[in-house]
Amino acid sequence: MLPSAEKHFLARILERRDLSPDLWLLRLDLGGPFEFRAGQYATLGFERDGKRTERAYSIVSSPYEKFLEFFLELVPDGALTPYLHTLGVGGTLLCRKIAKGRFTLDLRSGRTHHLLVSTVTGVAPFVSYVRTLYRDWKSGNTAMPGGHTVYCLQGASRSWEFGYREELEKVAAEAPWFKYVPTVSRPWEDTKWTGETGRADDVLGKYLNLWGLEPRETTAYLCGHPHMIENARGILEAAGWKKDAIFHELYFQPGKGTAPGLADSPAT
Ligand SMILES: Cc1cc2nc3c(=O)[nH]c(=O)nc-3n(C[C@H](O)[C@H](O)[C@H](O)COP(=O)(O)OP(=O)(O)OC[C@H]3O[C@@H](n4cnc5c(N)ncnc54)[C@H](O)[C@@H]3O)c2cc1C
Repeated sequence: MLPSAEKHFLARILERRDLSPDLWLLRLDLGGPFEFRAGQYATLGFERDGKRTERAYSIVSSPYEKFLEFFLELVPDGALTPYLHTLGVGGTLLCRKIAKGRFTLDLRSGRTHHLLVSTVTGVAPFVSYVRTLYRDWKSGNTAMPGGHTVYCLQGASRSWEFGYREELEKVAAEAPWFKYVPTVSRPWEDTKWTGETGRADDVLGKYLNLWGLEPRETTAYLCGHPHMIENARGILEAAGWKKDAIFHELYFQPGKGTAPGLADSPAT
């Protein structure tokens, strides 16, 4: 038994899909019950020489799914991701038994539009929202009565880094409540790309206008790279959004070693 078995699952990798040398998707079997809401994160890690290294990862899968899915980016000098990157199918890692986070859909404010803006792996909680809403919509058991609409803008350097583009485009083609625009910031490295270009925050103003989004009816959700979050927040506030209508999930702070709230700790 692991020293930390009370608080952690020893999760097993069921599936791994590499999108590029530094981006990959994992599907995990935790081997026990795990409750979460779409938009929350899990804490993954490993233990070595009596020291545990853990980081937060947004859950891609919907609570309706049996297994947990993640979208990961390798940080070459990082404490955890270089290790996670070595793990293949059958490999094991620690996952805390409790999900955390408040980056869930705002169904209380009365705002019926939801604008989701992400960079690369920052799309993870949004895929969880969309999978959950789609399933509810299909079963007629919607948590979003009254004409809610979800607008998703996803930025990446190149199109193969989106990870979930085909899935999200399929939902957008079918569901009248979902709009999706992927945008590529390095089109010169992806010459076959014919879609939107520019960083997510560069094209945000354009889509606020195109989609006719108004501050009093729209909650904005910003997830991923700190610069995108800062720029997008500035654009939204200049367009009239109040602070309480802008939610964010910051994946890291430039120059700081550990994700907010998580220190490497002795394994007790
Ligand atoms: C709520 C939450 C959800 C998250 N969800 C995801 C997710 O779904 N997928 C995911 O890949 N990551 C996610 N992260 C980031 C993750 O927790 C780790 O910070 C990241 O994987 C790096 O861990 P590391 O131990 O390898 O690097 P660290 O040792 O933590 O970091 C080393 C250095 O790299 C910087 N750094 C960290 N991450 C990046 C980055 N992406 N790009 C550039 N520099 C970076 C740090 O500021 C630090 O200076 C999330 C973070 C939070 C707080």
